[in-house]
Amino acid sequence: MIAKRRDSAITKKMKQLSDRINSLPTSATLAMAAKARELKEQGKDIISLSLGEPDFNTPEFIKEAAIQAINEDYNSYTPVNGYLELREAICKKFKRDNNLSYNPNQIVVSTGAKQSIANVAQVLLNPGDEVLLPAPYWVSYSAISILSEATYVEIPSTIDTDFKITPEQLEAAITPKTKMIFFNSPNNPSGTVYTEEEYRALAKVLEKHPQIYILSDEIYEHINYGTGNFSFAAIENMYDRTITVNGVAKAFAMTGWRIGYIGAPEWIAKACNKMQGQITSGANCIAQRATITALEAPVTKIGYMVEEFNKRRDIVLDLLGKVKGFKLNKPEGAFYVFPDISYFFGKKIKGQKISNASDFSMLLLEHANVATVTGEAFGAPECIRMSYAASEDQIREAISRIKKIVS
Ligand code: GLU
Repeated sequence: MIAKRRDSAITKKMKQLSDRINSLPTSATLAMAAKARELKEQGKDIISLSLGEPDFNTPEFIKEAAIQAINEDYNSYTPVNGYLELREAICKKFKRDNNLSYNPNQIVVSTGAKQSIANVAQVLLNPGDEVLLPAPYWVSYSAISILSEATYVEIPSTIDTDFKITPEQLEAAITPKTKMIFFNSPNNPSGTVYTEEEYRALAKVLEKHPQIYILSDEIYEHINYGTGNFSFAAIENMYDRTITVNGVAKAFAMTGWRIGYIGAPEWIAKACNKMQGQITSGANCIAQRATITALEAPVTKIGYMVEEFNKRRDIVLDLLGKVKGFKLNKPEGAFYVFPDISYFFGKKIKGQKISNASDFSMLLLEHANVATVTGEAFGAPECIRMSYAASEDQIREAISRIKKIVS
């Protein structure tokens, strides 16, 4: 009774919050991770395949760089766009890994790639502008567009086309109001990797529409199982219209360090610097110093993690492929599988009617103690996302539990 009264008082208070926050969806990835954590704390044996976060520790050589930075008294405010030394290291990284030439004035370091993306959206979008989101897309792209008062337009794809959009679809989605498109390869949630040829075909369409800016989110570039990464800005006439987003979270197991960055046309970088200067200022000093060391190291130093993810991907595909109702493609990057589970729609499992992916994801949480994320949040309501950034034992156990529940 008391709890009920308290809840209704909170609901009343929430009406006083801004329309902006009340219309903003909660991050489905973070919400599911929080739910899994809460259930674990209650003593439940939950296997969390919800959050996209490497289960490795940050490599020793990066940790040592951070400790050294503390001992060297790096403790003051940092330049808003990042230490010059870090921006220089980022320029070298862009040249080495992506064949992109940026100068330090084109780089802005942020508190995670998510902030980098939010900065770009805030400085480029006006109310009423349209943002194209090839679906499936990461949950925060739509929310960040909403925060910028833009309208997001999904370009759908299915597992049958390996979750890739075609140039024809892109052309059809463009209107005079289109201002930006988000590309993300390797993709979260599908693991899809666009080839150079496919990107060039999409660029041909964008060539005809010079008002459109391209945000290319390459945060998973190193977690790639063969095709190799191709940066959208490497297409000659796209460089001046593309913002390349990256960070150290995924490749270097540094999610909590919160360092992301962009390479962009200088006028956009300048605007992001201005935006960030009024919101968070420069990113954390210790994490920035450690990032210099991370980016200057040869990429082979993190190869052991990629190898392990690759191995786990194959295990997931093998085991999940044997579970009736899970339709899979072969992800070429990132650490997610995104099965189409629409086979279960309309069926009753454990007395529960499955009408959509959210129902299915909840079923797995409640009856198999396995946390996944519904595809609805990614613009693909027939799928669920499962992260295999978990130990092999956990992966095997999770899939065995799922199999028991659904068969
Ligand atoms: N990007 C990760 C994910 O998709 C971390 C959570 C988030 O920021 O959405 O799971």
